[in-house]
Amino acid sequence: MNELITKTAAELAQLISTRQVSSYEVTQGFLQRITEVDEVIHAFLHVDGDRALDTAQKVDAKRSRGEQLSALAGVPVALKDAFTYVGAPTTCGSKMLEGWIPPYNSTITQRLLDADMVIVGKTNLDEFAMGSSTENSAFGPTHNPWDTDRVPGGSGGGSAAALAAFEAPLAVGSDTGGSIRQPAAATGTVGVKPTYGACSRYGLVAMASSLDQPGPCGRTVVDTALLHQIMAGYDPLDSTSINQEVPGVVEAAQVKDVTGLKIGIVSQLAGDGYSPDVLTRFHESIDMLATAGAEITEVSCPHFDAALAAYYLIMPSEVSSNLARFDAMRYGLRLGDNGENSAEQVMKITRGAGFGAEVKRRIIVGTYALSSGYYDAYYGSAQKVRTLVIEDFTRAFSTVDVLMSPTSPTTAFKLGERVDDPMAMYLNDLCTIPTNLAGNAAMSLPSGLSDTDGMPTGIQIMAPPMKDDLLYQVGGCLEALLVDRWGGPLLDALVSKEWS
Ligand code: GLN
Repeated sequence: MNELITKTAAELAQLISTRQVSSYEVTQGFLQRITEVDEVIHAFLHVDGDRALDTAQKVDAKRSRGEQLSALAGVPVALKDAFTYVGAPTTCGSKMLEGWIPPYNSTITQRLLDADMVIVGKTNLDEFAMGSSTENSAFGPTHNPWDTDRVPGGSGGGSAAALAAFEAPLAVGSDTGGSIRQPAAATGTVGVKPTYGACSRYGLVAMASSLDQPGPCGRTVVDTALLHQIMAGYDPLDSTSINQEVPGVVEAAQVKDVTGLKIGIVSQLAGDGYSPDVLTRFHESIDMLATAGAEITEVSCPHFDAALAAYYLIMPSEVSSNLARFDAMRYGLRLGDNGENSAEQVMKITRGAGFGAEVKRRIIVGTYALSSGYYDAYYGSAQKVRTLVIEDFTRAFSTVDVLMSPTSPTTAFKLGERVDDPMAMYLNDLCTIPTNLAGNAAMSLPSGLSDTDGMPTGIQIMAPPMKDDLLYQVGGCLEALLVDRWGGPLLDALVSKEWS
């Protein structure tokens, strides 16, 4: 394997900026890797090879002219196929948008381009980001590089798998209920859901607007921080964007000290229903942080028990409204337009054929929950629970700096195992959902490998709104401790792995 592609983004940035290697060479290395392994992994829905090489060449030219460039200039990045990128298809993993080429860039895409990063392609996802395994993609599932019979988590399984298979050093995801963190846990990578409003949603195809948040994915905490720094910041094009300075995440990632920091363990997120392996690695990590000087206390967040149920009413309600725009008239698929069918019939035929089963399920649930007779009983009650979850967080953060829990109750499951059982699928998001309901920030990083199936386990750090730097401080410290414990980065185990 080309040695360059196993390097961290920080190392690549350093090599490129000191001109020991060109961005062109690095980009070529990753594109070559994609050609070699993506037939099996299927992390990408679209590879943008020619444009990536062209961008790389332009960045190299800027560099040789001595221009001042960003920290990640020339470094490749993969983009979840829910963000618009002019000239490349944006499908959201749905037949509904197959072949649609957006006329504008998402703010996140534009920021990557402005930072002279090289976008190598668009990654696979559950249809419209609805799912926890990437099996709901209309274009086939992504496979977990640790074990290709297993799922890479979801909905951002493509972005996470691309990192674990060394097809890209960095990736962009979006997290509505865990879609950045849960795939990170399943693949032994790092993923951050920033504070709601920290990264612009402009041009991210909306799933549930009050919950959606773009965020960075990487192989290390520092790499993830570097990308976070480029993605985050005020955007007048997003009415929920926060107009405040971005916390110093890159500096925080390098502190590697947790002395005196108060860490709360959420008692509701670590008991029944969690695999013993996940819990073993979780408690081991907490013990390490305690030895390193953190103060550990147990914290009760009683309403977290109802968060999943509230999410699965609020999210589909917003989905039912957001997905009304796919009406066969404005963009994407149009079926049954034979000159005889009415517009309503064309919509019916198109939406019936274009959406997959999970998307339809959510539109139906959401429409029902919002209907006048049931609004108070369902949507109204769920919003009350949301407030109680926010209050739980506020109370907890008045006594501790960060909260911690496993990222998901189990390691990555087998492909096909839960696809016909929506309830079992939804339970994966037990630990990640409270953060989306409250709008604060959270990170998942690998806590080790399971003793029974050898798959990665994930640990989650949750911080108050706009305290995203605390995630990186604790995450960076824990990562260093774990590298010692495991004798090196976990992903080293995949460097010489072959897939067929
Ligand atoms: N798995 C969750 C769901 O299916 C979260 C999805 C997401 O974060 N986009 O809704």
